Amino acid sequence: MQTKNLIGGEWLEAGNGDRLEVRNPASDAVIASVPSVGAAETRKAIDAAWNARTAWAARTAADRGALIASLGRLMRRDSERLAKLMTLEQGKPLAEARGEVGYAASFLEWAAEEGKRLYGDIVPASAPDKRILVLRQPVGVTAIITPWNFPAAMITRKLGPALAAGCPVVIKPAEDTPLSAIAIGELACEAGIPAGVINILTGDAATISEVIFDDARVRKLSFTGSTGVGRLLMGKASKNLLRLSLELGGHAPFIVFDDADLDKAVPAAVACKFRNAGQTCICANRFYAQAGVHDEFVARFSKAIAELRVGDGSTEGVTVGPLINDEAVAKVEEHVENARSLGGRVPVGGRRARIDGLADRFYEPTLIEGMTPEMMICREETFGPVAPVAKFTDEAEAIEQANASEYGLAAYFFTRDASRLMRVSEALEYGIVGANDGGPSTAQAPFGGVKHSGFGREGGRYAMDEYTEVKYVSWQL
Ligand code: ADP
Repeated sequence: MQTKNLIGGEWLEAGNGDRLEVRNPASDAVIASVPSVGAAETRKAIDAAWNARTAWAARTAADRGALIASLGRLMRRDSERLAKLMTLEQGKPLAEARGEVGYAASFLEWAAEEGKRLYGDIVPASAPDKRILVLRQPVGVTAIITPWNFPAAMITRKLGPALAAGCPVVIKPAEDTPLSAIAIGELACEAGIPAGVINILTGDAATISEVIFDDARVRKLSFTGSTGVGRLLMGKASKNLLRLSLELGGHAPFIVFDDADLDKAVPAAVACKFRNAGQTCICANRFYAQAGVHDEFVARFSKAIAELRVGDGSTEGVTVGPLINDEAVAKVEEHVENARSLGGRVPVGGRRARIDGLADRFYEPTLIEGMTPEMMICREETFGPVAPVAKFTDEAEAIEQANASEYGLAAYFFTRDASRLMRVSEALEYGIVGANDGGPSTAQAPFGGVKHSGFGREGGRYAMDEYTEVKYVSWQL
């Protein structure tokens, strides 16, 4: 297994030999180490991308597509190996890791085809002897900075459309999960993607990003991570007027109306909340159940939560793995204690789950009844396996509460009323709405937020816009 950095088609160590340890969050055991590179290596990676850009952009879309699709195929071929590696460095249950590998490959497969449909326009002109041509061209060298919660999919969701549009990339994966990124780089080499088109750097995020922001040859940054870091990066991006896509934090409401089909709403609530131990940016953070169905929803949701199995993600049958690090567990604990102190009741969970032989990183899947707007959990991202529920009386109140957030990534609601379905979909101030659907993510749909959840869309044909410039050619005959 490769553990070095990919720069200009070569696998390299940090110039000074520094390395970062990678740990299994379930056991805290060191599983590998990767280079800790700095400014010199980052410059070298940008040089490599810059040198590769003209030839990559000059290829036909079909040529690029074939290479991108081939990377997707190799990821599927090695799905089991990649899934095990992901569980080892990230902690999620193996079944989820397998799902993520397929999901990650699907972004490459989609982009490989979509690149062929990157049409321009010929616009009716302003004078008889003029023609107006609109071309779509690659934005250029693209930096990609990704988080640890989806170590493969957050990369391919950006990589696929960037490559398809003709942009070479410099990828900086999260410190906690560099191995999945490096494994993708290895497969990219096997797929025959030319040297310099994909570069992967591991090391101190601030040092690497300073070089990226200082170098005017980099024209685009696509970032997924916290709102705080996104805001910081947006400030720094002003120096070279870098184009940005920012997929930031979320605080998803999940509304269950009186007329909801609970047979569908309850399993969706469980999947939406507890997938990846609650560590996804579109996880439901707040549940609102209407008065007529509240008690039954809470009873059925509690029962389903109690059936979840916490443990090492690599153990078959485990459905909730560890949290990524000690701070993550402390934050969950703080949110639950704060809710308790403000009158929240905790019928299920509500404490750390201690598991023999494993690290103190596990938290019991938890339900909190009686959530109020004052509670931290009602405002801040918990990123853990805790479901707070509040009762509401009418639709207007539910919408008001749901929209009372600085975030605007995903929102969910369950109803059997078709008029309400459209009304509420339109009223929710979110980039993604799951209407009777707790799992809206898919390669062909536009994923992204509004408000403090950022801007830009990933997935489907919309993703291509993020990596292309529109050029207007005014042609006088
Ligand atoms: P999370 O809370 O999901 O860890 P972060 O925003 O802290 O989110 O991290 C997401 C990505 O942003 C990671 O790859 C991390 O290394 C990177 N990152 C963190 N701080 C900076 C920074 N100052 N400059 C550039 N990247 C950063």
